[in-house]
Amino acid sequence: PGSHWQLLSFRRNDNECEETWVARIRLDGVSKQFGTTQVVREVNLDITDGEFLVLLGPSGCGKSTLLRMIAGLESPSAGRILLDDRDITATPPQQRNVAMVFQSYALYPHLTVAKNIGSPLRARGRSRQQIREKVTDVAATLGLDEHLDRRPGALSGGQRQRVALARAMVREPGAFLMDEPLSNLDAALRSATRTELTGLHRRLGTTFLYVTHDQVEAMTMATRIALLNGGRVEQVGTPSELYDAPRSTFVAAFLGAPP
Ligand code: ADP
Ligand code: MG
Repeated sequence: PGSHWQLLSFRRNDNECEETWVARIRLDGVSKQFGTTQVVREVNLDITDGEFLVLLGPSGCGKSTLLRMIAGLESPSAGRILLDDRDITATPPQQRNVAMVFQSYALYPHLTVAKNIGSPLRARGRSRQQIREKVTDVAATLGLDEHLDRRPGALSGGQRQRVALARAMVREPGAFLMDEPLSNLDAALRSATRTELTGLHRRLGTTFLYVTHDQVEAMTMATRIALLNGGRVEQVGTPSELYDAPRSTFVAAFLGAPP
């Protein structure tokens, strides 16, 4: 897969990109309530430039809600979200310098791969020429060049996942947000995609914020893990910090570390 993940050279000399593309994300006392249920509780988190931060925790602990608030798809009930020191708590999703990589089933089934990948640029009113260039470039990087005229239904699960990633990439975001992106893939493909994603992160240097309930995924992919429990951050640290020095029995039990 090495050839799929060549450095995106166009990112470096694209003058249209008005913002930096390595984002620092800061959560300041972020909470979320649905009705009377509080699902995210005063989360403080500083996600630094270019790290691969995994939001880890059991099902229902608030991981997706937290990610959706960063993407702008949910509004916090309290607290602030800062992107490169700018308060974006009330900024619409399209105007945030972050891109959510949706599950591959969120692709437009009736559109070609090229049109799927180019859709965020079309929405921004870019010219056909600009769109074609960027789509070609990203597709080459992800090994999708031969599939541009096909429809998502004709692709494998792994290829569809790459199209979803490509669609996020054309926006040149400062951060990629991913919510259990491997959950629809079989075991072999999951392992290969894990390696591809960490390779991509290394090459791009972009901030990755990655949600999973899978400890192995977190331990192998993360530069840092934020372990959530009942809407709270239990512990933040490198995989080895959490494993070797768990701050609570919950952390130890969740990571399967000896007590
Ligand atoms: P996770 O991604 O960690 O599994 P979620 O963020 O999806 O957790 O959900 C956290 C809690 O919030 C769950 O109990 C879920 O049922 C609840 N929840 C999520 N979204 C909504 C919503 N739109 N309305 C009501 N409750 C919700
Ligand atoms: Mg979830």
